[in-house]
Amino acid sequence: MRPSTADGAAGAGGSILEETIERAVEFHGHLGPFLVLGVRMGLFARRELDSAPGEMEAAVKTGAVPSLSCLLDGIQVSAGCTLGRGNISVEPPGIAEAEFSASGRRVTIRARAEVVGEIKSWRERYASLEEAARKISKRSDEELFELSWL
Ligand SMILES: [Zn+2]
Repeated sequence: MRPSTADGAAGAGGSILEETIERAVEFHGHLGPFLVLGVRMGLFARRELDSAPGEMEAAVKTGAVPSLSCLLDGIQVSAGCTLGRGNISVEPPGIAEAEFSASGRRVTIRARAEVVGEIKSWRERYASLEEAARKISKRSDEELFELSWL
């Protein structure tokens, strides 16, 4: 099992995190912080539920309005929960939160309010959205998310 910090997942070239971000950018069309947050959320959920890609179901609460909904594409790529497979649903409240389930276990992963605030006001700290995305991708799961078991 991989360690839960970004350090462990983001080693030199070819780490799972870097590869997954690359695939997500290809799928989604650009690199942004909510996309990266979705990638990290899906990888975190897979680790917590000890689940292979495509074995989980996800109920994502972002709604369908970008840029928050960019998170959905990160989850589709990293968790293997996709519209085509029918194992992802999108719910309207418009928050950076998703509930994942596999083998009878359910967990809610919520982006911390300060992380969402930082992304929404990215211009205060970063020169570009890409820079914000890269910085955020390197943080630990604990810095990014709150987790609760259901
Ligand atoms: Zn986007």
